[in-house]
Amino acid sequence: MDSETRMDRRFRGDSLKVNEIFYSIQGESTRAGLPCVFVRLTYCNIRCVYCDTEYAFYEGKDMSLTDIIDEIVKYDCNLVEITGGEPLVQENVHILMKELCDKDYEVLIETGGTLPIEVIDKRVKVIMDIKTPYSKMEKKNRYENIQFLKPVDEIKFVIGSREDYDWAKELISKYDLTKKTAQVLMSPVFDKVENIELAEWILHDRLNVRFQLQMHKYIWHPETRRV
Ligand code: SF4
Repeated sequence: MDSETRMDRRFRGDSLKVNEIFYSIQGESTRAGLPCVFVRLTYCNIRCVYCDTEYAFYEGKDMSLTDIIDEIVKYDCNLVEITGGEPLVQENVHILMKELCDKDYEVLIETGGTLPIEVIDKRVKVIMDIKTPYSKMEKKNRYENIQFLKPVDEIKFVIGSREDYDWAKELISKYDLTKKTAQVLMSPVFDKVENIELAEWILHDRLNVRFQLQMHKYIWHPETRRV
């Protein structure tokens, strides 16, 4: 980590480095299809090979928590997702999530699963990735997180190959993930695994998971930002 990044990450008053705040259709999870306000925070501690938000690694501007909340309020939408990059990199995210929960927002956080989740406000629904071999970030998984998942939380596997699928299936069984969480999600890596292939693997194995596509990439052009 360079010194500039270290400085940016430091606890700076009540601010967060924000890549973008936007209002769109939730493309994933059990909330897919619902209007949602997204707060995309800057920085990520890992580098998945399929990452589609590399622009969030460094780009962003410092915003006070008050300004972030004012921006969210403008959309008059009760569902808010905190995402990234990796939103848990910046400690002040916890203050933001608490404030939003106190204001009765339904708050989701989408995390890569490599940083501690037990410190997240219990009112927040955690959508946690488990990184598969295809991502090249499998070794970064923090498996201790699994014990802290709540019944309302969701687990996501992004499947880039048949090997990934078999690997995920084993893990689901090993940790009994379908019973521990509200939903296990499986998405194909866009342009790497055919939708029909993954769907057929799931059906063949009678796997109790939710097949999902990144809906926003079908509504808008896949490269479109702020959706
Ligand atoms: S965790 Fe998410 S933001 Fe970070 S590299 Fe992986 S896909 Fe990209």
